[in-house]
Amino acid sequence: MQYKSEDIGQRIPLCIPEIRGNEWDYVKSCLDSGWVSSVGSSVDRFEQVVAEYVGREYAVATVNGTSALHISLLINGVGQGDEVLVPTLTFIATVNAISYTGAVPVFIDSEPDYWQMDPGKVEQFLKEECHLSGGLLKNKTTGRNVKAILPVDLLGHPCDMDSIVNLGSTFGLSVIEDAAESLGARYKSKKVGSQGDVACLSFNGNKIITTGGGGMILTDNEQFASQAKYLTTQAKDHPVEYIHNAIGFNYRLTNLQAAMGVAQMECLDEFVAKKRQIADVYETAFKKLDYLTTMPTQASMEPTYWLYTVLLPDGTSVADRTDIITRLGALGIETRPLWHMIHGLPPYQECQSFKIRHAVNLYERAISLPSSVGLTINDQQKCIDSFIQICTDVIG
Ligand SMILES: *Cc1c(COP(=O)(O)O)cnc(C)c1O
Repeated sequence: MQYKSEDIGQRIPLCIPEIRGNEWDYVKSCLDSGWVSSVGSSVDRFEQVVAEYVGREYAVATVNGTSALHISLLINGVGQGDEVLVPTLTFIATVNAISYTGAVPVFIDSEPDYWQMDPGKVEQFLKEECHLSGGLLKNKTTGRNVKAILPVDLLGHPCDMDSIVNLGSTFGLSVIEDAAESLGARYKSKKVGSQGDVACLSFNGNKIITTGGGGMILTDNEQFASQAKYLTTQAKDHPVEYIHNAIGFNYRLTNLQAAMGVAQMECLDEFVAKKRQIADVYETAFKKLDYLTTMPTQASMEPTYWLYTVLLPDGTSVADRTDIITRLGALGIETRPLWHMIHGLPPYQECQSFKIRHAVNLYERAISLPSSVGLTINDQQKCIDSFIQICTDVIG
């Protein structure tokens, strides 16, 4: 079958913001008031609304999700020469944040049934590869101290936080949850981001709600919250004098952006409902095709389907997967692969990875499909038809 560029109507993007209206009012109020920068009532309001929604005592807004992760690691005492367990299948920001502190990642595999960090392998690593020495957990291979576990809720799906939090307390490790992709999802009727020592969110343009760019640190620990606020605002120690007893960062979200965030939060439940509806339509269409594996769920986990993702047949080559993405792109349908496993990328090739098997398989087979909240049923049908047709042509 030939696809001609003349057939292309409107481009169908992967995942774009949904801006319904109150953003204009709230941002305008900021402009009218002159409070546009890193202090203001919208920042406070946004923090309060998100903390309440997720079910956390404290929230500290940040300039983006990456900085939220960086500060979260610092306030948990992760630093030079420490190690942090992290899934190899995640966006690079998760792992880079570890490097910013001078710590080193140890890469963990994905669970094959629901694609998230495998707590079984975390446990195996901690039991078999580490030992207690002077009250600290040491990696037997590298001799470094293991300090934290950094699980990620990928693609709007919760990871198994109960197991990970248990391992954290058994082995004396901090648990920092990267919930950047999964605001609104539930795990055993708790909101994603409500467990562990700290959780981080992102409000980048392609996330379920956006402030253009932004992030949030969530915790129930008052000390952590004040430490996070301190470090994100240049670590100023005196109300008048410019005394700084630590090296801080300029990581605060602006009031303008927070105003947009407050408006977006008002729509979050609606956005989640729409994402689930989109997932249902894809699910129904693809279930009939036995060669595709659709996005899995587990009982007691309620994903948001941030990016609806399917797996091509086992054994599909990366070249064929890329070909499908390119052909869809030529039709104006934007899709994308999952992130390259990070343990295979140049900055991280020397780091330890533990029995990675399933993450590679997921990386090779996965394609994420258009999932914008504003996706119309007609456009979605076009995505489904084109995807099935192109799959038949390429791998049929
Ligand atoms: C988006 C994202 C981040 C980073 O957020 P930014 O706001 O873009 O800095 C971190 N981790 C994951 C898993 C993400 O998807």
